[in-house]
This record gives sequence, C-alpha cells and structure tokens, in this order.
Amino acid sequence: MTYLGLPVHHSKPRVSDFGNIIHKVEKKLASWKCGHLSFGGRMVLINSCLSSIPLYCMSVFRLPDSVHVQLDRIRSRFFWGGTQNDKKFHMANWKSLCRPKNDGGMGFLDTRAMNCALLGKWVFNILSGKQGLCYDLMRRKYNLRENALGMNYTKGSCFWNNIQNVKSLVMGNCKFEVGRGDSIRFWEDAWLDDLPLKIKCFGLYKVCSVQGASVCSIKQDGWFCLFRRSLNNFEILQWEDVVGKCLEVSMKEESDKVVWMLNRNGFSSKSLYHWLVFGGIVDDRCRLVWRVAAPLKVKIFLWLVMHGKIQAGEQLKNRGWWGDPFCKWCGEMESVNHLMFQCSLSRLLWCFVRDAMGWQRSLTDYRQIGGIQLGSMSAKKRLVSLGMVAAGAWTIWVTRNDFVFNNKIPSNVHVILYRLTNFVAQWMHLVKGSRRKAMMEGFALLRARTDQLARARSG
Ligand SMILES: [Zn+2]
Repeated sequence: MTYLGLPVHHSKPRVSDFGNIIHKVEKKLASWKCGHLSFGGRMVLINSCLSSIPLYCMSVFRLPDSVHVQLDRIRSRFFWGGTQNDKKFHMANWKSLCRPKNDGGMGFLDTRAMNCALLGKWVFNILSGKQGLCYDLMRRKYNLRENALGMNYTKGSCFWNNIQNVKSLVMGNCKFEVGRGDSIRFWEDAWLDDLPLKIKCFGLYKVCSVQGASVCSIKQDGWFCLFRRSLNNFEILQWEDVVGKCLEVSMKEESDKVVWMLNRNGFSSKSLYHWLVFGGIVDDRCRLVWRVAAPLKVKIFLWLVMHGKIQAGEQLKNRGWWGDPFCKWCGEMESVNHLMFQCSLSRLLWCFVRDAMGWQRSLTDYRQIGGIQLGSMSAKKRLVSLGMVAAGAWTIWVTRNDFVFNNKIPSNVHVILYRLTNFVAQWMHLVKGSRRKAMMEGFALLRARTDQLARARSG
C-alpha cells in the first residue's frame, strides 16, 4: 500500500514495499529507444532521470541495501550497454564511477550517501528548532525540547530510527552557539571551538564521570566536572585551559543555536552529500578531464583511456572475450598502451602532436596523461594540452574502429592528421572565453604543422 507514492506499513516497511521504485526505473528504461546513444547521452539520462527517481522516497525512508544494489545494477547496465539485453563488458566497477569527478570518478549519484544526506535534513531541522506540523508532532511524540540538540536514542517508528541513524553525521558537522546551554552536550558537541572537547581532550573525556552532560549543568556547578581518578599534571593544565575558555563564554537567556559548518548559507543536503562522498584527495588529473574542450562522450572516453579501461583486445580477453585480441594493424597484442601509444600509427600521431605543441616528450603510456607533459604548465595550458590528448586519442579510436568494423583504411597518414585537427576545430566552440582563445592558439599550431607536412609531401 502506498500513500503519496510512499510505502505505508504498520511496522517496518519490507524490501518488497520499495519495489515500486525499481519498477519506475525499469519502466522509464523500457520507454527509451536508445540503442545508439553514446556514453555521454547515457550519462546524461542516468543523471537527469534514473538517479532522481528514488530521491523523493529517500528523503523519508532509509532504503534497504538490496534496493541500492538493484539501482546500481540497473544504472551500471544501462551505462555500459544501453537498453539492449545482450551482455556488455563493464570496464570499471560502478562504485569507482560513483566517486565525485574531482576525486577521480565520473560523479554518478551514490544513492546510499544521498539517502543519508536527505535524511540528515530532518535531523538538522529538529536541531535548529524548525517549526511545522511534522516537527511539532515529533517533539510531542518523543518528548523533545524545542531544539532537542542532545536527542538521546529512543526507539520509535521506522522513520524515527532512520533519522537517529544519521544523527551523528549531521551533529559532527554542526557548531553550536550557546544560549542557555541546556541542549548542548558539554563534551560531545562543538561549542567552544570547531571541534568537540571529546576529540580535543580525549584523555579527559575518557575519565570524566558524566558523559553527555549539558553545558548548562556543568556551568551551574561553577564549571566543575568530576573525574573518575585524579588527573596528572598535563591533564590538569588541559582542564584549566578548558575552564579558562568556558569562563569567556557569555550565556544568554535564549535557546541554543546550531550552525551548519559545511555551507555558509545554512544546511543543504548537497553539502552533506559532498562531505560524505569526498574521498579526501582531489585528483587534479581527472578533474581537468571534465573541463577540456570536447563533447561529453569524448571526455568519458579520455577518462577511460586514463584509467586503462577502454575496450581494447587485451582488456576484453582478460574479461573472457572469445574474439581476436591482436592489433589489426600490426598483429601484436592489442593492449590499451599498444593501441593508444605504441602501435606505429599512434606513435606517429603523438610525435606529430609533440612537435606541433612543443612538448618535451611524446606520450607512451596512459598513466602519463596529464602527468609528465602537463606537470609544470599553467592550468589553462594544461587544459589545452589535455584537449589535444583527447582529440588524439579519439582520432586513434575512430580510425581503429573504422578499420576493425568497416574495414576502412585511410589512404594516407595526412588524412588522419587532418582528422585530428578537425576534431580540435569542431570542439573548441564548446568552451568559452579565454579557454576558447587558448584552444584556438593550439589549433593554429596544429594546423600549421599539418599544412607544413602536407606541403613537404606534395613538394
Ligand atoms: Zn599495432
């Protein structure tokens, strides 16, 4: 049974109650006739349609893991193979694609993290004393104070238990401004500083007799706290320091306030989501990929090349493919590096780009992309160079596929070089301002070099 599209159940909803989400996603997929969509088109459809279907339900319920697994499976299958039923190779695992673009992933929605971030909104609203029918109801049912910051765990409805589960995620990113101090926990909440005392003075916290005490109760005792054993010299100094800071705090006759630390403009589920999915390291190489002057499908292709995940013979063979894994040009094993950088045609193309762009070295390995060539350049120059790498890699891929699938061989090498220059010319209109100007300069260099080679040949 559903009400307003959400499952209604007298006890905890079962997995089958969320079947309508999966059903909706599958129905959406079935309505698409997109056998010929590129990776880029499929990425857009996943982000704009498939990933957003469960959002409404996720803002109220914590979906069972099996529903997340099914959502991942459907989106992953669609990304790698479209709506056709035949088996396609998944070249990278879905989890790595769900990492943010800055973090080296493709930025698909991580539904588990988004689920927590959406439920976190309820926690924050309760903490910040938001008024409204739902909140009043919850305050009365669970006997909460106006802004029940120290919500203790009490068992309740499925909804209540779910938001209790994400409580620590939200409270860990909040800072509290002291009013009366009756709803701030002295040790566990961040109120003196950006960090809770529990973390700053873990030794003291471990031996204090009352964990979870409110700021106002400690204040009433004259900033006195009972410890389970006598403190050593270091701990005494630490505690005196804490008390010194406490004495500077002026308490007011008003409710305590909560401040969201991840976003200046107040709480947003988006900021919590980004905090949840951020892996800690910004991958500059991958971050730039999404800004190069190229269509989305080429950016995705470049990402795959940089991770050694394109469907070259060797990569497919490792995944149990039965076809011929050897290079059709030269008969060697077709690995990503062979196809992209080491086969004679590719070597020639990268030497051409190196000479035209004035690179120190030509590319010989996919792990070098965005590394050696671009290390010391300014961000704009790196983007131009990466744009050339995208055009070069795409030229090789298109030429190779034309040969493998249509048996078409370019009449001479100049055709391939002009193809490369034409890609750069077409794509530079996809960026604006100074980036386009920089791309145009890069294009002029490529074009001059191509013409020079063509003249030398005819002359
Ligand atoms: Zn080859």
